[in-house]
Amino acid sequence: MPTISFMADEDLKFMRLALELAKKAELKDEVPVGAVIVQDGEVIGRGMNTSIGDHDPTSHAEINAIREAAKLIKNYRLKDCSIYVTLEPCAMCVGAIQHARIGKLSMALRTPRRVLAEAWLISLVSKKLTIMQKLWVAS
Ligand SMILES: [Zn+2]
Repeated sequence: MPTISFMADEDLKFMRLALELAKKAELKDEVPVGAVIVQDGEVIGRGMNTSIGDHDPTSHAEINAIREAAKLIKNYRLKDCSIYVTLEPCAMCVGAIQHARIGKLSMALRTPRRVLAEAWLISLVSKKLTIMQKLWVAS
């Protein structure tokens, strides 16, 4: 069972970066979701939703960030990495996070109550889960 905690200041720094990516996606008329992958305190992958522009239903922020990170470190496993996502990941992205062996998932939530609604997700992801209440809401 993963440990669940609220985000520390360092987590917030990466989540703000993910939120910037979400805003960028919104400006391109994409679904406003951003994701950042961090290893040893450094950002190794950034992603935002590009499904509409790419004509690709799999181009979610998390998938794009995972692809970038995996290419950078030349490894399909992202062990000892964390992913910061501005929204609860969908089933496809949960699967990808699991396949990549990402150890920590940090996500912004629409409301803290969503933690309970996302219990199925929490049981799927490994080790650690940190949460924050959403800082920014798409208009
Ligand atoms: Zn997704």
